[in-house]
Amino acid sequence: SKVTKESILKRAEDLDVKFIKLQFTDVFGTTKNVAIPASQLEKALDGDVMFDGSSIEGFVRIEESDMYLKPDMNTFSLIPWQSEYGNVARLICDVYNPDGKPFEGCPRNVLKKVIKEAEKMGFSMNAGPEAEFYLFERNLEDMPTTNSRDYGGYFDLSPVDLGDEVRRAMVTELESMGFEIEASHHEVGEGQHEIDFKYADALTTADNVVTFKFVVRKIAMQYGLHATFMPKPLFGKAGSGMHTHQSLFKGKNTNAFYDENAKYQLSKTAMNYIGGLLAHARGFAAITNPLVNSYKRLVPGYEAPVYIAWSEKNRSPLVRIPARRGLGTRAELRNPDPACNPYLALAVTLKAGLDGIKKKTDPGDPVNLNIYHLTETQKKDLKIKSLPASLSEALDELEADDVVRSALGPHVYENFMTAKRIEWDEYRTQVFPWEVERYLGVY
Ligand code: GLU
Ligand code: MG
Ligand code: MG
Repeated sequence: SKVTKESILKRAEDLDVKFIKLQFTDVFGTTKNVAIPASQLEKALDGDVMFDGSSIEGFVRIEESDMYLKPDMNTFSLIPWQSEYGNVARLICDVYNPDGKPFEGCPRNVLKKVIKEAEKMGFSMNAGPEAEFYLFERNLEDMPTTNSRDYGGYFDLSPVDLGDEVRRAMVTELESMGFEIEASHHEVGEGQHEIDFKYADALTTADNVVTFKFVVRKIAMQYGLHATFMPKPLFGKAGSGMHTHQSLFKGKNTNAFYDENAKYQLSKTAMNYIGGLLAHARGFAAITNPLVNSYKRLVPGYEAPVYIAWSEKNRSPLVRIPARRGLGTRAELRNPDPACNPYLALAVTLKAGLDGIKKKTDPGDPVNLNIYHLTETQKKDLKIKSLPASLSEALDELEADDVVRSALGPHVYENFMTAKRIEWDEYRTQVFPWEVERYLGVY
């Protein structure tokens, strides 16, 4: 049944909702919200709530600062934890200009535009992310540390690991918000976890990633811990990825990646989509891996991808094809990390795949070897390229990739680029302890 303004007003009343958070996401993936009392809900649902866009990083200049929030009615959800002042719900919004047109600096609008392009080609995208994160202790000043010592100490009378307990709390709250959780488990790192939720269409999945991170952080805080989605918080330990499973559907029940009779049972569409991902991986890395720190995860030895190749067996390449066929046929893109803006990351990867379909890009043969163990000559012979080694290199590659740039649109591209070049420069001019240790005495 279609969600209407009336049905939401009724639900809000039935649920005794007192406040509604109107949420949207900035270019850098930070979620913002404007809270309104229930009396303003009808006005909000009409798209009449205004905010000052100039105070949001990467949005607009002061002179043109009025922006409107247009809630997506399908995203109405109760926020499960109680507030003293009554129940709180949220609505995820698109940002609009005063002239009634979608604001092109709004990442959700960017994704919607690429989804439309896919629809014109007869496809809808499904995506399923696997977001990893670390749970760290907070110190006496309540600041996050990188310490994940045995949590058992807090619960001396019980052998329960607090990490497990916190994860159960997270799963329970997520389920109450409508998430279908498929699995939750410890990851390789000490204090590292993963909670997997069911795939959905691309827009819903991007919304879900935003909600997921918010819930995970909030619950960790309630347990006195800090949840971090930083890609590589500890040198020499596993980083946190957000592998993203993707497939294209034609209608509800036909997976366009599956072809019973084809080699690997992967359709032409699938092969070309993979070809597009590989061809644009260097170009979209700045979006899927947006931090200086992201590139410290993309190194050999930690199950994170370094080389641009695909495989139906091995876990080291950029794109892995899980064994499932039929409706579950999909490509797992392994480079994204959970610091990315999920709207932009899905927009650029979908765009890359569609470009592969248009240009009939051949992904080449799968590389079913552990690429980490190949010699430089072998890699050269197999024509295997690497992902960018730094944010700076990734920004140069983004600059050179017209397809990825066109997915972002000039507004997001310019703002992202400017801010990220500054971020890189700030990093580049620091002197780190490693340098002092290595050079001070010797030179
Ligand atoms: N933590 C690994 C990464 O950085 C992934 C481990 C896994 O295969 O789940 O991508
Ligand atoms: Mg994992
Ligand atoms: Mg995975």
